[in-house]
Amino acid sequence: MVEKLREYNRKRDFARTLEPEGKEEAAKGSLRFVVQHHLARRDHYDLRLEWDGVFLSWAIPKGPSYNTRDKRLAVQVEDHPLEYRNFEGTIPQGEYGGGVVMLWDEGYWEPLGDVAEGLRDGILRFVLKGQRLKGRWALVQLKNKSKLNKLNWLFLKEKDEYAQSEDGVSGFTTSIRTGRTMGEIEAGEDKK
Ligand code: MN
Repeated sequence: MVEKLREYNRKRDFARTLEPEGKEEAAKGSLRFVVQHHLARRDHYDLRLEWDGVFLSWAIPKGPSYNTRDKRLAVQVEDHPLEYRNFEGTIPQGEYGGGVVMLWDEGYWEPLGDVAEGLRDGILRFVLKGQRLKGRWALVQLKNKSKLNKLNWLFLKEKDEYAQSEDGVSGFTTSIRTGRTMGEIEAGEDKK
């Protein structure tokens, strides 16, 4: 039970960070997803897909793009607890992931094909039903022999009616949940 979130829990000191403690939850109904903008030592977006009681997670340095020609590096990171979908705020400097976290998008995802098989083969294709991310997307694992590089995937927009010639997301600079900018979250300002 605790096994999947062991790394998540090991990396964090819950006496110091407001992030939720890792607990697996029983799956119920539709599969949720969330994207968090995380301004830490490096700026990135975290894509989290609910699967089997936890969030499978990828850190995407450049963030998503609606342009089907963009291939965005997505580095798989430790599974996160489902409660993480409600986390927006600051992580103290010096702690793991220290910086600002914004809830950038949320909704549901629908796998196209078998997920367990996709994870094994290194290709996940799915539909996102978020407020900002919609339509068909894919995660494709880069084929590499070294263990470290097995964590590298590409996050791609697939052709559909939502595809664009621009990234289509740079204009979204506020929280989907609270309407706050990164600066306002950091300053601890109230929900808009
Ligand atoms: Mn992150």
